[in-house]
Amino acid sequence: MDQIEIVEGDITQLRVDAIVNAANTSLLGGGGVDGAIHRAAGPQLLEECRTLGGCETGQAKITKGYRLPAMWVIHTPGPVWRDGQHGEDDLLASCYRNSLALAVQHGARTIAFPAISTGVYGFPLERATRLAVREVRKFLERNPTIEKVVFACFGPAAFECYRKTVEEANE
Ligand code: ADP
Repeated sequence: MDQIEIVEGDITQLRVDAIVNAANTSLLGGGGVDGAIHRAAGPQLLEECRTLGGCETGQAKITKGYRLPAMWVIHTPGPVWRDGQHGEDDLLASCYRNSLALAVQHGARTIAFPAISTGVYGFPLERATRLAVREVRKFLERNPTIEKVVFACFGPAAFECYRKTVEEANE
């Protein structure tokens, strides 16, 4: 699994073809990683997002990256965690699958994900991480055009959780 890389830090700084934004369904910006991406990309990102008409939870839409090092931003609204009984796992899995499919369609070979839904949306980090790693691995097995998937971890706790999960998946 050397196509999977785990880094600790700000996703907006990464030199990859596409970064994924844990957006909300309006696609008009928000806090957390969404706010950081809009700040770093500049106001043209919001202008393009305004033309998209929002996005449903679990789906994904793509824009240019503007001032970011990344050429593309893939916006995907993750599910808001309720109790795990309201389709949260399936919706989060679709975020990863649909984002990767859009990356392939646009010729992106390297892509970075934040820990979608694990901030304000309250999805438990370990459960989200296992699901993210599982979906990415499944996708990579079938799609050789993606050369690298980076998990951008914001803080040491997330980094450690991803490191452990990837290690366990390799056993
Ligand atoms: P959501 O609403 O999907 O929960 P958040 O932005 O609140 O989205 O959080 C998603 C994850 O992104 C959290 O783990 C948070 O720590 C992380 N995060 C926040 N800012 C950044 C950033 N600049 N780069 C990478 N990850 C970030």
